[in-house]
Amino acid sequence: MNGLTPSADAISKLIQEFSKLPGIGPKSAQRITYHLLRNSDEQAKLLAEAILSLKQKVSLCSTCFNVTESDPCPICRGSGREHTSICIVEQPQDILALEHTGIYKGLYHVLHGAISPTEGIGADNIRIKELLNRLQDSPVEEVILATNPNLEGEQTAMYLSQLIVPLGIKVTRLARGLPFGTELEYADDVTLTRAIEGRQEF
Ligand SMILES: [Zn+2]
Repeated sequence: MNGLTPSADAISKLIQEFSKLPGIGPKSAQRITYHLLRNSDEQAKLLAEAILSLKQKVSLCSTCFNVTESDPCPICRGSGREHTSICIVEQPQDILALEHTGIYKGLYHVLHGAISPTEGIGADNIRIKELLNRLQDSPVEEVILATNPNLEGEQTAMYLSQLIVPLGIKVTRLARGLPFGTELEYADDVTLTRAIEGRQEF
């Protein structure tokens, strides 16, 4: 036994859980835990409830696979959106980044990953089949490939263009203004806007 009291066990347990989160090392996990300990019960309760309702209320849109509290999601449902174009992204966070530019008015499709042979992720492991089903008998005239400008993203874009071009749908790729090796969600608005405007046909 290391002599920890039950309350200290609760502390180390929470530190352990925070350490599992992306971008949080042991030091930060410790700091957050002790911060919560000093804070009011009410604030700890709000945080706990927010985490619980995240898992209870948020699911995936059955059309575009974006995260949503209602199915179909507000973008798929939105009457102000152009249903003639679909922008393909890897992760739901990418939609946030693109929506923030305010320039794109079409629909989205979230793949939930990218093809990566080194990590054993093939075309069947991401939402490609669902995309192809969606494109059948649809009014879609343009598919914009907005996968990340890195190796996996490029491979995925290439693979998708080979499947979609034969369907007679125009396929474009975000302009090369985005630095190679980065991720879409971290691109700034100006770069992202230029990339959308300067998209090129495959
Ligand atoms: Zn949707």
